[in-house]
Amino acid sequence: MRAHLIGCSDCGLVQVLPSVSADAVAECARCGHGLARPAGRGIDMSLAFSAAALLLLLPTALSPLMSLISFSVQRRSWLPSGVEALWNDGFGPLATVVFLFSIAVPFIYLALMVWVLGALRLGIAVPLGKLFRWAGELRPWAMIEVYLVGCCVAYSRLQDIGTVHVNVGGWCLIAATCSTLLAAISLDERAVWNALPSCAEPASSGRSISCGACALLSDTVREDAACPRCGATLHRRKPDTMRRTLALVVAGYLLYLPANLLPVLSIERFGREDPNTILSGVHELMSSGLWPLAAIVFTASILVPLMKLFGLSLMLVMTRWRSRRWLVGRTRLFRFIDFVGRWSNIDLFMISILVALVQFGALTRVRPEAGSLAFAAVVVITMIASRCFDPRVMWDEADST
Ligand SMILES: [Zn+2]
Ligand SMILES: [Zn+2]
Repeated sequence: MRAHLIGCSDCGLVQVLPSVSADAVAECARCGHGLARPAGRGIDMSLAFSAAALLLLLPTALSPLMSLISFSVQRRSWLPSGVEALWNDGFGPLATVVFLFSIAVPFIYLALMVWVLGALRLGIAVPLGKLFRWAGELRPWAMIEVYLVGCCVAYSRLQDIGTVHVNVGGWCLIAATCSTLLAAISLDERAVWNALPSCAEPASSGRSISCGACALLSDTVREDAACPRCGATLHRRKPDTMRRTLALVVAGYLLYLPANLLPVLSIERFGREDPNTILSGVHELMSSGLWPLAAIVFTASILVPLMKLFGLSLMLVMTRWRSRRWLVGRTRLFRFIDFVGRWSNIDLFMISILVALVQFGALTRVRPEAGSLAFAAVVVITMIASRCFDPRVMWDEADST
């Protein structure tokens, strides 16, 4: 790989990216952010796993995931049946979120990856930068692995109601998830970006704008120009980052209490209604002896949203104070909360599966409740908040003192 200038996406430092050997990674000299992974991976492995995951998604969507036998009646759950059940119960926004994150976005993301990597592999000269940027932007919202954990939690909770079996779609979901994760692990994004043609020469000075999507430095002084490689609008920093993040964090705090205090679902057994909050769901898993799952749900649903809200608040306040304290630690914390936020959707997916499967008329029935809407809003808002925040402004403000 030819050494060239690169702008760190986490702290903004413009530096020379050296050639990386097969057993080394290149890290930012100031904040430690990984700039390039070991060379020599190529794109074949990632292409193969992405294609396998895309093919496996078809039987996952078209075959039953799991079946529940209770009161001598068998019910089956498909990938889209949770969406349909939530929609029919009048929870349209929740149905939309589950549809997008578990079905639509994973399909589109994997199709884009296969298209871009396949075209690169075959040497087809078509503009791919925009498509690869879209794939990168969609990746956090393609939650097939989170859906799988939601299925595991639903499977454990269904044991109290009847006999549960994993069907063909369920096994394909596990295989598709493994393939998606292996595709992500084997992907060397920097190698793909470097292989993509750019209609501009790489920047030669530090007085350039670094593209937020592909990190290409462009010799332009004009903001709002398009990146010559991926087409993203160039900004020195994410526009209006402090105010947008603040507004979303405040909205997140306001919704956090109803999300945790109101029931997210209710179980009707022989006419008796049993409302369940997020915390009571965790308690139920603990009572059944499922400690690891209880710990995962407690961390993902209760601790992670709170940690995101506190973490982003800390970053906003310290940036406003132009503090130089814990800059590297704060940048690492930001990277972590941006990464883990999507795992809070485990409970939403679990609710969609229970609502679709547990429908035995007056005997046993699960219904979604208003708390699930507030919870979905907290998860989505905190995810958007962390994507709106630009960690480079922490370094800019500290440098301006
Ligand atoms: Zn950095
Ligand atoms: Zn770009």
